[in-house]
Amino acid sequence: MRSKMAAGNWKMNGSTQALQEVARLAAALPAPQPCDIVLCPPTPYLAAAVAASAESALEMGAQDCHASAKGAHTGDIAAPMIADVGARHVIVGHSERRTDYNETNADVAAKTQAGWDADLNVILCLGESADVRAAGDTLSVIKAQLAGSVPRTATPDRLVLAYEPIWAIGTGAVATTAQIDEVHDFIRAWLVAEFGPTAGAGFRVLYGGSVKPDNAAAIFACANVDGALVGGASLKADDFSPIITSLQNSA
Ligand code: PEP
Repeated sequence: MRSKMAAGNWKMNGSTQALQEVARLAAALPAPQPCDIVLCPPTPYLAAAVAASAESALEMGAQDCHASAKGAHTGDIAAPMIADVGARHVIVGHSERRTDYNETNADVAAKTQAGWDADLNVILCLGESADVRAAGDTLSVIKAQLAGSVPRTATPDRLVLAYEPIWAIGTGAVATTAQIDEVHDFIRAWLVAEFGPTAGAGFRVLYGGSVKPDNAAAIFACANVDGALVGGASLKADDFSPIITSLQNSA
């Protein structure tokens, strides 16, 4: 039985003032909780967010890391630094980074390994563009992303996949449950083929793309959806909390 995860991605939003939202969310999540709850604020706020969520079940993550553990990479963030400030997770391969910084599948695989080397859980994002979907190439693109981004040393305790159709991110155009089922079932079959029936069944696969309080329950009812990666609706505790409640009720 896979445990569920709700992960929030603040992207390049937030402020010291917004750390109050972290504290409010943490206050509503005393440990232990039946699901893993993660928040990924911008790096300048990560240490303060770790402090604001201390003594709660809310864990912190970063939105990206460099493939190297240290060195001459101005502006970049090393995975050991993320762990050093008390965060436990890192997102890699978000479509905004794949697009804005031309990150390749090989880059994402290297960042995944860097996260593991720092004992971080890695949340690895996959997803197709609107053009790819319109061309009927969604599953072949997902397969290529899986094959190129997921190191074969992956284990379910340190890798979570997030299927995020690019056309659904930040647009309000949530995928239908039929579309989500098709891709999540495909990802599950790929994991079982690559890692065997036991490990393959153990990886968690999140859905991301305009998840909101009013659509979360339907998404979480999909068989191979193990939670959500949430952007806009994770910025406010009042929006993220009902999504977490939906997930807990689906578990
Ligand atoms: C995301 O940032 O990964 C995301 C899914 O954003 P949103 O929920 O705003 O679509």
